[in-house]
Formats: sequence, C-alpha cells, structure tokens
Amino acid sequence: MKQRQIIIVGGTAAGPSAAAKAKRTNPNAEITLFEATDTVSYGICESPYAISGVIEDENKLVIYSPEKLQEEKGITVKTLHQVEKIIPTKHKIIVRDLRNHTTGEYEYDKLILAVGSQPKRLNVDGEDGRNVFFLKSRENTVNILNYLKSETPKQAVIIGGGYIGMELAEALRLRGLDATMVHQFSLPMEGLEQETRERVLEELQNNGVHFVTNAKVEALQLDKTGKVKHVITNRGSFETDIVLLSLGVSPNIEIAKTAKIRIGQNGAILTDERQQTSIEDVYAAGDCCEVKNIVTGNPMYLPLASIASRAGRVAGENAAGGRATFKGALRAMAVKIFNLQVAQVGISSEEAKRYGFKVVTEQIHGPSRNELMPGSEDLTVKLIIDQRTKRLLGANLFSCCGAVLRANTLAVAIQHKMTIDDIARWDLIYAPPFAPLWDPILVAANKAKKKYEP
Ligand SMILES: Cc1cc2nc3c(=O)[nH]c(=O)nc-3n(C[C@H](O)[C@H](O)[C@H](O)COP(=O)(O)OP(=O)(O)OC[C@H]3O[C@@H](n4cnc5c(N)ncnc54)[C@H](O)[C@@H]3O)c2cc1C
Repeated sequence: MKQRQIIIVGGTAAGPSAAAKAKRTNPNAEITLFEATDTVSYGICESPYAISGVIEDENKLVIYSPEKLQEEKGITVKTLHQVEKIIPTKHKIIVRDLRNHTTGEYEYDKLILAVGSQPKRLNVDGEDGRNVFFLKSRENTVNILNYLKSETPKQAVIIGGGYIGMELAEALRLRGLDATMVHQFSLPMEGLEQETRERVLEELQNNGVHFVTNAKVEALQLDKTGKVKHVITNRGSFETDIVLLSLGVSPNIEIAKTAKIRIGQNGAILTDERQQTSIEDVYAAGDCCEVKNIVTGNPMYLPLASIASRAGRVAGENAAGGRATFKGALRAMAVKIFNLQVAQVGISSEEAKRYGFKVVTEQIHGPSRNELMPGSEDLTVKLIIDQRTKRLLGANLFSCCGAVLRANTLAVAIQHKMTIDDIARWDLIYAPPFAPLWDPILVAANKAKKKYEP
C-alpha cells in the first residue's frame, strides 16, 4: 500500500514540530521537509544571547541537524531546497534545488506550509551596506558575530524599538559597544502599557543606550568601502560602525497567494482550528499564519515561537490523520532588558477599548520577595479588567525579578476567563526568599475589587 506522503515547507520552528508530530501520529507516513537554507531546527530566539556572548558557542543553537532529524525522527530533510510553487489541483509542489538550480516536482497527500516570516525593510538608500544586519536566521546570526569579531565596531545604531531591538541593545552593550536606538515613536515597545514603556525607556537609558524618539530614517549614508557611516534621520544624523534593523516581520505568503490560499485580514494565511487552509489537504502553521486571539475572538498576527511550535504540532497531527485543534493564543510574552523583566499577557488597555470593552485598570507596586530578604525588588502589576464581567483581559508586570513567572499565572487566568474575584481568592505561595505574604498579584486583584464596592 502506498504510504501517506506528507510534505512540510520550512524548517525552523513550526516545520520541525509539525514533522515530528506527524511521524509520531502516523509512523508509516513518509514525511519530507524542504528548507531553503542549510539549517533546520534553529534556536533563533536564543541568538541575541549568542551575539552578546552569554551563550558562548553559537553552534549550540542548532537543536536538530538535518541528519539528526532524519535519524532520530525518521523525517527526510532536504535543505537548500526552495519550494517555488504549489499546484493544489495536482497535489504537487515545484521545488528548486539551490545547489545546482535544477527544479523538480514532488507529490503530496498532505502539505504543511511553515514558511514563516521575513524581516521588514526600511526601503531607504544604503540599506544594503555591508555593515547593515537583520537578525532572523542562522546566517544573520553568524554574519553579525563574524562582523563583530573581524571589524570590532565601536558604535552601533539599532533601528526599531520592539523586543528584538531591546535584546540587541543589551547584547551590544554587553559587548562594550556604544548603542543608539532610533525609534519612530516617543517610547519603545508599542503594545505595552504606557507605564511599562516608560520604565523600559528608563532601563535603556540607565544602561547607556541613547534613545532617539519620533525618528524617521531618511537614508543610510555609505562610505567608500560600502559601509554605513551615518544614519540620517529627521532627528539628526548618527555616526555608526554597524547598523541593526529590527523593524518587525511580515508573513511569507507569496507561494500561498499564488496557490489561491485565502489570506486573512492581517495579511497572513488564514486557517481553521485544525490549521487547515482554505485549500483541501493544505495546512499551515507558525509565523506565516494568523492566529485567533482568545481574548477578543478575532484573528491577529502574532509571530512567536511559542505559537508556531504548538500550531505546528496541530498541523502535523492532522496532516497525519489525527484530529487536533489549536484554540488560539492570548499573547503571552516577555523580554529581558538589562536588569528588567517585562511581561505582557492578554490584551492592552488600548486594545481592549478598541474592541469595545469598558475597561477598569489597577496598577500596584509591591515587593517581589519578603522585604527583609536580599534581592527583594519593587514589582509592578497592572491588571486590565472588563468592567462589566470583572474578567481579566490582560496584564503587564515588570521588575528586576519575579515578573515573568508570575505573569504566567495570569495568562492561565485569562485563558480560563477568570474574574478579579477569582484571582483575589487565589491560594499563592508565601515564602520569604521568593514571595511576600501577600503576593503583588493578590494585592492588585484585591485593590481592583474595591473599585466595585459601594
Ligand atoms: C531574534 C529573535 C528572537 C526571538 N525571540 C522569541 C522569544 O523569546 N519567544 C518567542 O516565542 N518567539 C521569539 N521569536 C519569534 C520566533 O523566532 C518565531 O516566531 C519563530 O521562529 C517562527 O517559526 P516559523 O517556523 O513559523 O517561521 P520562521 O522562523 O520564519 O521559519 C520559516 C522557515 O521556512 C523557510 N522557508 C520559507 N519559505 C520557504 C520556501 N518557499 N521553501 C523552503 N523553505 C522556506 C525559511 O528559510 C525558514 O527557515 C524571536 C525571533 C527572533 C528573530
């Protein structure tokens, strides 16, 4: 009997998850994974720490080599193979072998698109300068590391103040570079609450990052050697030895579009709960897809590895004949900025208002541990609550310690539609080295409750 042929396109996070799960679900299935680069299963999220030197050996970011994926998981891996076209009516794809530029056709019973995203560009002169870098792939990571080693730059300009910009700023400061961050708004990290963003800015500045607000980059001025020497903006010109672009990502949808796979309102591939696209036998997962926001019920674009891996598994299981569902995501994310942990779960107060919620917020500051204990730090909790139902919609937490894992508890609360009354009654740990008698989360929920008392 002919075995089920499952083809997966893309090998970073969603693809390998899908492949491994498909094989576990149906060990008889023949699974082939095509990847355009020479690397699969790469820990790109750890790459800022390889750049800073906190992770000393960049090679350790490769989780599975193509050979290991093949041997241990039974998946045929074809690196340096770019899928160029899907022909859904024939259940075929056209693939270019990038080593010799020949093309071939491959048949599938089920196809999974895990083609991810690509970094956004500035589209200004000088962007292709040889000291301008993105951070989105292993090749990018290695290029940055090589450049830092061979050219020992002293000054860096980071363009874009999102979470990857934050991680890059920290990495470069740790390596002893002067760092200037050029950002289009007055505060870094849109999407977080105003107070959180102000604290992030303070942390950047306390650690010597020069933050340029409301700046629009007009050009990257090259010297005779093809390197950017000045970043020209409407807020001045900044001398530099290296430029890092961290402007966010956009979903890779070209091959899906050509195959007439439906694209959603956020510009990424639309799938159902089974990760099936609008075309039969074609699934998709990861950064190339939209995901349902489980707080608002609306689709959103949220390119995170935590989502890509879980959605990839669902796509893999279903492609192999199973019946799994991915119910969506709430936005659970965190970033370390020097000595600050910042966590966000759920939606922001602005977003809540946009979606028609009447919002109550409560913000408190409390000690991260019993105050007599060394290392106790001020921790801020802001809760975003639906006034009508008292349901928790979102939260921001920040502190030098203890913010991120506390935020995880609130992520669960949001997923289970808990109210502040529920949260105020939680039985949480008290142990002086870890938490005060009244955990800041309980303090915040109890204080929020008072807003409802007559
Ligand atoms: C620096 C950095 C830090 C991050 N930190 C975090 C974090 O802390 N937490 C978190 O949750 N997320 C983090 N992310 C986001 C996370 O890395 C992505 O969400 C995740 O990599 C998405 O995985 P993916 O497989 O869907 O897509 P991608 O990682 O974009 O991979 C897609 C793959 O498909 C290949 N491909 C594309 N088109 C084709 C084609 N036509 N043929 C063959 N191959 C193709 C690409 O070469 C690529 O390897 C970070 C991202 C970066 C860049």
